[in-house]
Amino acid sequence: MRIETLAVHSGRAVDTATGAVTPPIHMSTTFQRAADGTYPQGYIYGRSGNPTRTLLEDCVRELEGGEAAAAFSSGMAAIMSVFQALSPGDHVIAPRDIYHGTTRLLREIMARWNLKTTFVDMTDLEEVRQAISDSTKLIFVETPSNPLLKITDISAVVDIAHQSGARCICDNTWATPVLQRPLTLGADLVVHSSTKYLGGHGDVTGGVVVSAREDDLFGKIRQIQQSGGAVPSPFDCWLTLRSIRTLPYRMRAHSENAVKVAEFLDGHPGVAEVFYPGLVSHPGHETARNQMNLFGGMLSCRVRGGKEEAFRVAAKTRLFTRATSLGSYESLIEHRASIEGPESRTPDDLLRLSVGLENAEDLIEDLEQALTG
Ligand SMILES: *Cc1c(COP(=O)(O)O)cnc(C)c1O
Repeated sequence: MRIETLAVHSGRAVDTATGAVTPPIHMSTTFQRAADGTYPQGYIYGRSGNPTRTLLEDCVRELEGGEAAAAFSSGMAAIMSVFQALSPGDHVIAPRDIYHGTTRLLREIMARWNLKTTFVDMTDLEEVRQAISDSTKLIFVETPSNPLLKITDISAVVDIAHQSGARCICDNTWATPVLQRPLTLGADLVVHSSTKYLGGHGDVTGGVVVSAREDDLFGKIRQIQQSGGAVPSPFDCWLTLRSIRTLPYRMRAHSENAVKVAEFLDGHPGVAEVFYPGLVSHPGHETARNQMNLFGGMLSCRVRGGKEEAFRVAAKTRLFTRATSLGSYESLIEHRASIEGPESRTPDDLLRLSVGLENAEDLIEDLEQALTG
């Protein structure tokens, strides 16, 4: 089945008890045991499992083409579960250009339990190869990357990982399975912040790990979910599932709008540089064409005139709200370096745009008036 059909039909069944077409939200924290002490429906207690969560996990698993999935209360909890499934002394290779929360997790938290990380330019395959050591267990890919929209060749990094007995995980938050399916390119795991496009409406925080195989590593991830307890509420699962039904159509519109906005910014004298994989001039354009269906709704640009000017432009937009996060129906604009903190490597004149579902011409007119001053 194709992605639009999967998005509508996965993780959904008409309720046999009531005939309800839309799945109910099961809020119960506990489930009745049979007289002999067993659990005939498979559910025991809300932390270890919940029917609404199962539907969300089934849906994202099918969209990504995996064998197993685990839903979490945030994207970071999902990513953390993968790192915690490794052992102290293990080595991880991660990109320098990556969601800053993931960098922090590795540097400040996982380092304390002796998980070692080497940060590389993941688009430079030679640098990735050089970073491999005997204890390398995981290569972490994020493509397109945050905030510079770097494109990593997923299959090529998968090959490097597998040659050395390591696994490859891809943070697929920005692309979603609609634009890119890392497991079909050989990746072992996919992770999402469902707070972004999967949720799509700026009103639910969550994360999901999908595994190509129901193997030992996934068993550990499941154990961390159930015993660690960073589980999403049934209502959050239901909201995310409800939103995924329209994901393919939203991703198409986000991408179409972003192409237009990127082309506009690319030709504007007030803009020094545009980072968008859909532009032919982008160094990752060819790789993006090969592994993505569309180029997505995220882009960033460097404003001529430095930090002050970047702040001024962001402040003058009317349709773009100044806020962090991405993937919602409304457009957001953000001065990225100032949210990433003092250790940020992001240029000071960089604005990151999450292009929403408004009319592209309105968004372009808004940016035009903001840039003109
Ligand atoms: C937002 C984001 C995360 C973190 O997800 P939360 O839901 O905020 O915990 C991880 N990776 C990427 C690429 C993100 O954009």
